[in-house]
Amino acid sequence: MSYIITSPCIGVCDTSCVDVCPVDCIHGPLKTDGSGSEVAELKEKEDGLKGLQLFIDPETCIVCGACLPECPVNAIYGSEDEVPEEERASIRKNYEFFGQTCPPEYM
Ligand code: SF4
Ligand code: SF4
Repeated sequence: MSYIITSPCIGVCDTSCVDVCPVDCIHGPLKTDGSGSEVAELKEKEDGLKGLQLFIDPETCIVCGACLPECPVNAIYGSEDEVPEEERASIRKNYEFFGQTCPPEYM
């Protein structure tokens, strides 16, 4: 089980969640490490964050809940089972961003 970042993060990527994660498992939008360090540079470019979002590494997330209240656009859900049906593709994206296989029940 993992917290999951969904589509409202797209284009926002403000990294508020990154700052509070105790196990440093939130990365992207481009690199699978670095805790969103590339966001600052992307922000400088016009449309630099277009279509991009951050992701939670499901194998590392300890399900502590610290990130959830920090998100200004309510993009974070507390488990795969809490992600609404219309955001289901986000579950797979979080797993696959880190090269992990999404559990079949969430495909
Ligand atoms: S629930 Fe905790 S460990 Fe998981 S991504 Fe959020 S802050 Fe990090
Ligand atoms: S706090 Fe929300 S919008 Fe900001 S990077 Fe995290 S998930 Fe994306």
